[in-house]
Amino acid sequence: MPADLTADAGTRDDSGGRPVVPSTGRLRPLGLREVRITGGFWGRRQTVNASATLEHNLGWERRVGWIDNFAATVEGRVGSDRRGREFSDSDVYKLIEGMAWEVARTGDTFAAESIAELSKVIERAQESDGYLSTAFGHPGQGARYSDLEWGHELYCYGHLIQAGVALLRTGIDSPLTDVALRAADHVCATFGPDGNQGFCGHPVIEMALVELYRVTGERRYLDQARLFVDRRGHGTLADIEFGRAYFQDDVPIREADAFHGHAVRALYLAAGAVDVAVETGDDELLAAVVRQWEATVARRTYITGGMGSRHMDEAFGEDFFLPPDRAYSETCAAVASVMLAWRLLLATGDPRYADLAERTLFNVIATSPADDGRSFFYVNTLHRRQVGPLPATDRHHPRAESAVRAPWFDVSCCPNNLARTFASLAAYLVTADDDGLQVHQYADADVSTRLGDGRPAGVAMRTGYPADGAVVLRVTETSEVPWTLSVRVPAWAGDGAVLVEPDGTRRRVGPGVATVTAAFAVGDELRLELPLEPRWVRADPRIDALRGTVAAERGPLVLCAESTDLPAGRDVAAVRVDPAAPLAPDGDGSVLAVGALADDGDGTWPYAPDSGAGGGTTPAPIRLVPYHSWASRGPSTMRVWLPAVESGRDL
Ligand SMILES: [Zn+2]
Repeated sequence: MPADLTADAGTRDDSGGRPVVPSTGRLRPLGLREVRITGGFWGRRQTVNASATLEHNLGWERRVGWIDNFAATVEGRVGSDRRGREFSDSDVYKLIEGMAWEVARTGDTFAAESIAELSKVIERAQESDGYLSTAFGHPGQGARYSDLEWGHELYCYGHLIQAGVALLRTGIDSPLTDVALRAADHVCATFGPDGNQGFCGHPVIEMALVELYRVTGERRYLDQARLFVDRRGHGTLADIEFGRAYFQDDVPIREADAFHGHAVRALYLAAGAVDVAVETGDDELLAAVVRQWEATVARRTYITGGMGSRHMDEAFGEDFFLPPDRAYSETCAAVASVMLAWRLLLATGDPRYADLAERTLFNVIATSPADDGRSFFYVNTLHRRQVGPLPATDRHHPRAESAVRAPWFDVSCCPNNLARTFASLAAYLVTADDDGLQVHQYADADVSTRLGDGRPAGVAMRTGYPADGAVVLRVTETSEVPWTLSVRVPAWAGDGAVLVEPDGTRRRVGPGVATVTAAFAVGDELRLELPLEPRWVRADPRIDALRGTVAAERGPLVLCAESTDLPAGRDVAAVRVDPAAPLAPDGDGSVLAVGALADDGDGTWPYAPDSGAGGGTTPAPIRLVPYHSWASRGPSTMRVWLPAVESGRDL
């Protein structure tokens, strides 16, 4: 039964801020004061995000003129001076949201001062009726809402509102919260039941309005979000070159079979639909999204968790169309997928959503930023055939350039989406309900909250994950009343996971959720041991592009071969592996496979009669490294899916 969580909604909750606060659902999210990441894999990324990425992104937004656009609007010169794409305002808002979470997390003064400064500039650009855009509605520009297909005005409001919600939830005093409220009121007045019957080509405002409803209690924001969800899918927007499926206006979300069209749009829309469904008790809508999520995971998702296999329109492909060398797998689609999975997890408690979030976090979201947090992959291909040049650091890049991480893009959604995700990541690890705590993701983290009747509950989670498979949960706060500590056991663990209870009892636990209910004492330890032996994985043969290949995984990590680890002059195109031979861990997270390097042939014609004999090969161990680390040692060729040879035939 969904629990009523209304008491947890409202402004300035004392949790330290949470990105998503449903009023009903199976699980209650915890805030940034209740869960703190203290170190490890994700702690390092949070530190880099705070110390480098926030400043880096702000610097580029100044440099490419996106912040000056607001001043230009105030000064009446935006029609001639405006720079950047029509949605560049949204990236300033997204960065502010990330900074708000960072202030809540650490009290970071750079982030706090930047929010104050940006808010002043933005506030002045808002018009008296709440309209706010640097791209439309001014002399020399298109009229307001004259291009709902591509204009992104409502999309920009969505990110503005999400920034406003983050400021409200984290208790940061900023004029931007009023700016966001005025914009939301303007949207309701303009696009309400009797107003403009349109909606934005790019969803995001749906989930933003629901969250604003959750934080303010103003029902009209929820009603407007529901209107936007229900209006879409009836062929209202223009039939563009990619078809109306591009912006999910081809079929109502209640009737669709799988996520389709532009991947980020589809996933943001689905997340907004879950929010609407949860707040309105619309089980049919929730079931429709669950059905599409299942179909998409089963047939339209890369092994990394990445989504989107068409570059042309940044879109999902048809079922089983998952070519590794054409993977688009936009970083933002991964962020959106985690946002959706989190909402579905909160609504249902089903651990499969946390499974996908883990896969996506470790293999797409962790892959995008460089170690120094100052360059990024926008596209996350699974097979790089040519060594790319080192990126120029003094210019921004086309977004689909995937040879190397680049400092900035002409469309720079991804670096800002990463910034807000890393800053708020602690909120996605653990939940609570009346009876206990549920651990969904493993990280060094301290958890402290209250259960249903105000009883204290806290744990210190310590782990070397994903390099080490042991996760220790030490009880730090408890009461005399028994409560339940739950921990997700990932599907990839098969039957290899062991749970060690506080009394030392060891038991095998299968994929799903393992629980221990006890009157815990402070100091009690529960230990989850996950099997990290590397393993070969094969793809469904209907993914034609992967037939005859295998991929290696270790724990939650997808591995890849990189030319950096091959003899000079050899390329990953020559790699062959023998999946019948065991994989051997080789330190630093890398793994050695038994394999060979194939000869290149005579190079005149790439086809030959099927004689049954393989070409010439030279036996060689093949080093496989975590996919998230690829290209961090310099430009390389790389592949995740490796041609497999039958043992003893070609080696
Ligand atoms: Zn993006």
